[in-house]
Amino acid sequence: MITHLYEELLDFIYPQYCKFCEKKLSSGEIRYCRSCFEQLVPTKIGNWIKEVTTGEHLDFAYSAYWFNEVLQDCIHNSKYNGYKRLLRKVSELALSELEDAPEIMQIDVIIPVPLHKVRYRERGFNQADIIARTIGKRFHLPVKAHLLQRVVWTDSQTKLDIEGRRRNTERAFRVKGSCDGMNILLIDDVLTSGATSNSCAKELKDQGAERVGIFTIATPDFRLRRDRSL
Ligand SMILES: [Zn+2]
Repeated sequence: MITHLYEELLDFIYPQYCKFCEKKLSSGEIRYCRSCFEQLVPTKIGNWIKEVTTGEHLDFAYSAYWFNEVLQDCIHNSKYNGYKRLLRKVSELALSELEDAPEIMQIDVIIPVPLHKVRYRERGFNQADIIARTIGKRFHLPVKAHLLQRVVWTDSQTKLDIEGRRRNTERAFRVKGSCDGMNILLIDDVLTSGATSNSCAKELKDQGAERVGIFTIATPDFRLRRDRSL
């Protein structure tokens, strides 16, 4: 596992180039240059639960950025190349979407959407956990990663339709411990149909949770989805 210090040392020894546009990076830039970061488009939509396709067990949903090419690259590299500093930076920028969320005041605990243990072993970390800890630090909220476990291995959902995604994630999660009366904020990198976080919310509520919402770094632009269906 690449440590924070080791990552910084590598940056010092070898000049770094933007992973997206390949421009040489200046000091203080992490993996991506300033102008690529400026291409991230904040959603500024607040609670968008009404637009979440599969979200009947979720009480609210917030996403910081529309999923564009730069962000896709950024999230992909964070996950598969272990760019944790980059993920922390993106999370710090993204959490401004939560600053004015009335729901954040009621939250008792933050839970990252868990990976199956096999995938966790493969990757060495859970990207949602890094995002969750950045947000927990900002809002002084505890992060309880072990309260929820993914017990069923689910393959990549990108090729599945909404029903497929729903079936795929049903009973995929198990609560380990008490969440009686809790207001919970789930965290993930991307929210598409909502099937995954909805299954988490169902399981948490079955075990007594009061309210469950989701925050993600990104979501595909549903305004475009809507236009395409016309
Ligand atoms: Zn760039």
